[in-house]
Amino acid sequence: VFLTFEGNDGSGKTTVCNAIYEELKKQGYDVVYTREPGGSKIAESIRNILLDVENTSMDPRTEALLYAASRRQHLKDRVLPALKNKSIVLCDRFVDSSLAYQGYARGLGMKEVYDINQFAIDGCMPVKTFFLSVSIETGQKRMDLRGDKNRLDLEQSDFHKKVREGYAKLIEMYPERICVIDAEPELKVVVKNTLNEVMKVIHE
Ligand code: ATP
Ligand code: C5P
Ligand code: MG
Repeated sequence: VFLTFEGNDGSGKTTVCNAIYEELKKQGYDVVYTREPGGSKIAESIRNILLDVENTSMDPRTEALLYAASRRQHLKDRVLPALKNKSIVLCDRFVDSSLAYQGYARGLGMKEVYDINQFAIDGCMPVKTFFLSVSIETGQKRMDLRGDKNRLDLEQSDFHKKVREGYAKLIEMYPERICVIDAEPELKVVVKNTLNEVMKVIHE
């Protein structure tokens, strides 16, 4: 079962995903947590290029292609083997991130970015995507809690607003696949609500 987690910077994806991973493991499920961009050796090298604070002159198309390249490698190295092994795969970001960030927020066009990603993922899509929904203000506050700075932290809140709009379009386009989770409440509540939805998918 391939599940992905999406949302703005600071929405809580990594924290919630890890909590769900621990809970499923405790319950005896065969579960894998992984993340994008990165998640395997070559894919992590591409991540380092993408997030290097010194790479301020990166062309948006280069950026989109590197995300797609990192995605392809990670899919091949981690996701496909785990799915073949019948594991539950929890992936922190996937193709929707590219559509929202590069396609919509950077203005490359969602269709254009979708096309290069079709080549990269070659038909492998998650059965369900959990979108952690927070306001721009909450996302910004939680981003500041995270110590590590990357190139995206230099973006203004305008950019993050656009990312949120991009995700809103995706939620409209894929209402069956994307499950929206209110990620404003305290962590315990968000984890419980997300876990409920994850369980529904696992037992389908
Ligand atoms: P990024 O996209 O930048 O990787 P993220 O979506 O993975 O961000 P996290 O790193 O999980 O977000 O969370 C950001 C910060 O917010 C962390 O310090 C985390 O502990 C905190 N946090 C996450 N969820 C909640 C919550 N529901 N209530 C309060 N704090 C939270
Ligand atoms: O989710 P994670 O913190 O690993 O993402 C690293 C950074 O990459 C984030 O700041 C995020 O905004 C950015 N990103 C992006 N485009 C994507 C995926 C992630 O700009 N397609
Ligand atoms: Mg994260």
